[in-house]
Amino acid sequence: MAHVKCPQCGGYVSRSVEACPGCGYFLPGHRILKRLIVLLVLATVLTLAIVIVTSLWRPAVGFFGDIAAHDAKLEHRVSQMEDQKQRAEKEAKDERPDLELDRIRNRGR
Ligand SMILES: [Zn+2]
Repeated sequence: MAHVKCPQCGGYVSRSVEACPGCGYFLPGHRILKRLIVLLVLATVLTLAIVIVTSLWRPAVGFFGDIAAHDAKLEHRVSQMEDQKQRAEKEAKDERPDLELDRIRNRGR
């Protein structure tokens, strides 16, 4: 069993005890406290890791991924609408001579 030197009386005390059996001095470096600190640090690191992973994972795969897909859909729809507009304009131009012809025919009656 590892021993530590008591800062008050200088006697060697087992690490597993909280206070020096010789003078009753509370040992801040004893095993239970160290374990508690290690546990606390581990819990904090684990919590931070979970928070970081979840906050990074969602934007990369879910949130921004969905926005990118939505943008792509919107761009596709806009290009489709532009195509339709151009087609309609072209058809209107193409139909104009026919309309003129109809007007002339109607006038002749
Ligand atoms: Zn002591």
